[in-house]
Parts: sequence; structure tokens; C-alpha cells
Amino acid sequence: MSTTDDNPTSLNGIGVSPGLVAGPVARMAPGITEPAVATLPADSDVETECEHIAEAAQTVKKSLELSAAEAKGDGKTLLETTAQMAADPTLTSSAQAMVKERRLVPERAVWEAAGSLASMLESLGGYMAERTRDVQDVRDRIVAVLTDSPMPGIPRLPEPFVLVAEDLAPADTALIDPEKVLAFVTSEGGPTSHTSILARALGIPAIVGAGSEVTDQLHDGDIVLVDGTKGIITLNPSEDALRRARELASRVRVFKGDGGLKDGREVQLLANVGDGAGARSAAEAGAMGVGLFRTEFCFLDQPEEPTVEAQVEAYKAVLEAFPGKKVVVRTLDAGADKPLPFLTDATEANPALGVRAYRTTRRNPEVLEHQLEALAKAEAETDAHVWVMAPMISTTEEAKAFAEKARSYGLKTAGMMIEVPSAAILADKMFEHADFASIGTNDLTQYVMAADRLLSSLADLSTGWQPAVLRLIKAACDGGAPKDRPVGVCGEAAADPALAVVLVGLGVKSLSMTARALPDVDAVLKTVTFEDAQRLAQVAIDAITADAAREAVRAELPILEELGL
Ligand code: PEP
Ligand code: MG
Repeated sequence: MSTTDDNPTSLNGIGVSPGLVAGPVARMAPGITEPAVATLPADSDVETECEHIAEAAQTVKKSLELSAAEAKGDGKTLLETTAQMAADPTLTSSAQAMVKERRLVPERAVWEAAGSLASMLESLGGYMAERTRDVQDVRDRIVAVLTDSPMPGIPRLPEPFVLVAEDLAPADTALIDPEKVLAFVTSEGGPTSHTSILARALGIPAIVGAGSEVTDQLHDGDIVLVDGTKGIITLNPSEDALRRARELASRVRVFKGDGGLKDGREVQLLANVGDGAGARSAAEAGAMGVGLFRTEFCFLDQPEEPTVEAQVEAYKAVLEAFPGKKVVVRTLDAGADKPLPFLTDATEANPALGVRAYRTTRRNPEVLEHQLEALAKAEAETDAHVWVMAPMISTTEEAKAFAEKARSYGLKTAGMMIEVPSAAILADKMFEHADFASIGTNDLTQYVMAADRLLSSLADLSTGWQPAVLRLIKAACDGGAPKDRPVGVCGEAAADPALAVVLVGLGVKSLSMTARALPDVDAVLKTVTFEDAQRLAQVAIDAITADAAREAVRAELPILEELGL
């Protein structure tokens, strides 16, 4: 790899997934725009034009099948489903009919035919409605072939690259191959957006919310250095900087399942998981248990409440990966960015402030009962220690009602998530009922700062480094101390190695994160004593701004620079 000139240029975004890598830029092709309504010239042959549509659909089908053959997991399934959609004659024949009847140009005919098909699927609801995204994907691909435009989606290149995009849709992210995508840079998105969470889960350095004024300067093939910790993109980096990135990339750190500080004090380092496969890979990564099992991830695409039997199987798949270990199971956290058609109301004006998470028991108490029943059964059939908690507990009555309900099903350890400021403030009262708490810093930050966690324009407010957030975390830990109730953190803040030190200093006993972050957080915690952590926590709490807190703490942790974090 060589640089193209001697003038490195630094560009800024929001660093959301740590690491330093260099590579050539590959831009994601812009989405296909709607073709104008145009008719065929008088001398064109309608039959030949119809043939073009069928050929384009075949080309798309074949290329999707080829990609599916190379892909793994969710990405493979997604590509196979999309390839089937491309092979389905409904779309092609209705587009061909429009060419014949209205003499529409083929790309416009495909666009309109896909529009009608998508509305039809939408009206059927449930699983069928979810297929509209595949129809749109196939439509865009066929139109790209017909108009000779670049194929939308993640570029397929032989060599690894830095992906530059506006933002990544969930459908794109499922197709990311971490062997090929060295880093992401997006113009949109915030620190807790889907793209950022995925980047951390894949262990790919990422910068989001950089703005189009930054991403427009990055062209295919440009060599860039991406520092996902500091949020800096260096265009035309120096040879020295490239050498350092290569050196860091060659070091592999592992976590041995012994989370703790330099003075030997234990800090449980746990994993956030969404299903059995995630739990198995977390166990392989050395996680000391599960600190957050997001049960709703097992059922996100289901139109109806899953049966108790189906739930037992899904929960067992996670519990079996951690025999003899703690698995903290969160009851369904439906609503806002995770709607479940059988539980949430899609018409609410403010879903983040609506009937979501534990609040859905107001309308559907039986769904929680079934879940607790399934969980108790799954626990009885496995050797894991189940701790159960409810998301978004807001009042002491809710903490009490949930703990009593969980215990009535034989689940011995019942707690709560602290995501709403009221729960942190009233933690002492709530701990009269809850055995433990886990702080969801993603939502806690969103509600304390009144900043939508998905908005890149408010990313400076949406960080666990905000002193107001840190003070509430301290209040929660202080509330648990008299009764020795353990308080953990399972939001994204736990995966930031410098912030992890502060959290431990505030009194947090366990940190739960994407399994990929375990070695980095562990390596940094092992360089500080509890006294150091308490001092750094005070430094952060006393800071005037989030940036000042972060900088002051980072300045005292030289290991971060050494590890490129
Ligand atoms: C959180 O809010 O911090 C959390 C862990 O829950 P989720 O991200 O699933 O809302
Ligand atoms: Mg949450």
C-alpha cells in the first residue's frame, strides 16, 4: 500500500467502534432513483424490450445466487430469499404487460410493477409485508442492469476495503463480510444506531455521522486511515501511520475469562447476546456469563406471540452455552426501534415514550406470564443460573410487581433494568424488591439528555460520558450499596474501555458487552486498581462536558494509546 501524496488530510466524524486500520475506499453505490415515466420510441420492438426485462431479472437472480454461495449466516439467507424473489415471474410478467399495453420503457415498467407488488404484499401484513423490502431490492437491481448503472448495495471487490456510505440499512449490514470490510465510514447515524452496534459486534472500526461534506471527499481507491476511537479519517496517511496501523492489526488479544483489576478485585465481564449462536460464540470468547439476553431478538420477525414451547427452545439454546454460569435474561423489550407486531402499537406518536418494554404488560399481562413460564422451564432443563429482569422499570410499584411475578414462577433472582432516570433516582427504594439491576446506558442516556439515540445530529448528547448520566449511574450504585445489591451496566458504555474504568469506579460490579469488546476492556481494566478507578470516576463526574470527562480520563490511561484504542 502506498500513499498518493505527502499531505495527509484529517477529517472528523463520530468514532463508534475502536481500532485503527488503513485501506482503499470503496463507496457504496447510491440508491437507484425512480426512472421517469417515458414511453418507447415508435420504432422500438416491444417483444425485444420485454425480453430485456426477463434477461435482466435472470442476471440479477444469478448474481444473487453467486453471492449467496459465498455468504454465511443471516447474509446467506437474505441473499437466497432475494434471489428467489428475482426468479419469481410475477414481477417480470406484470412489467412486460406494462411495456406491451402502455409502451412504457422497461425500467419504468419494472418500477411500477414492483410498486403494485409491494403494495399488495404490504396489505397482507405480517410476514408478507416484510417481503416488500426484498421486492424493492430486486427492483433496484433489475433497474440497475437495464440502465447500466452501478449495482446498489455493498461493493464486491477481491481485496479488503474501507466502506464509505450514507448509512447502512439492516439488509446491507447482514451482508458485511468482516474479512473484506476493514472499516466503515458513514455520513449519517449516531453512536447507538444500528450501524454502530453492528460495527462493534463485528469488531470493525467505524466512524458514523461524518456528514456528506466529509464522505464526499473520499473517492473509490483513495487510501485512508480510519481511527474508530478518535473518529478521525486520514486521507493520504504517512508511511509511519500506515506502519503503525499494520503493527496494531497484527496483534491479537484474547480474554481468558478472568475479568478484574490490577489489584485482583473481580469485575464480571459478560456478554450481550440475542440467540443461541451468539451465546455460543460469546462463551468461546471467554465471557464469564451473559449480562443481557435480548429475548425480543428471537421473535422480531414473528407476527404472533411465540408458543411457550418455542420460547423454551429459544431460551435453552442460550442457557446451554453457559452451564454453571450466570445468564441475565431480559423480558421482551418491544417497542420504539424494536416493534413486535403482537405487542406494540405502531400508531403511537412518540413510541420511545410510549407503551413499550415492561409497560406492554398493562395491555398484555399474559405475554409476560408466558415468558416467565417458558424461562422457568428452560432453567429447569439446563445448568445455567438464570437472573431475570424487566426493561424500562419506571416506578417502585413496577419493580415490586415484576419481582413478585417472576418469583411466583420459581425464578429466584429477579431484578430490573435502570433505563429511565426515575429508576436511578429511586434505586434505594426499588432495591427493597429487586435483587439486582443492570443499567441500560443507551436508553438511560436518551432519556436523561432527551436526545433520540438514533440521531447523529445529537450524538454529542448521546454519550455515556455526559456527567449527568454518570451521576445517575452513581446514584443507582449508591442505592444498591446498603443492601449489597449488585448493579451492572449492559449498554454500549460498557464496551468503551476508558468508560469501563469509570463505571467500575462508580461502583458497577459487572460489565456486559458485545463479545468482541471483552479483550480490550479486560486489558485496560487490568492496568488500574480500584482506587485508581474511583479517582478517575471522580474526575469524570466533576468534568463540565462529556468531551472534557473523556479526555481527562483517557489522558490517565496510557495503555489506550499503546493498544490503539
Ligand atoms: C440499553 O438501553 O442500554 C440497553 C442495553 O437496551 P437496548 O439497547 O436493547 O435498548
Ligand atoms: Mg434499552
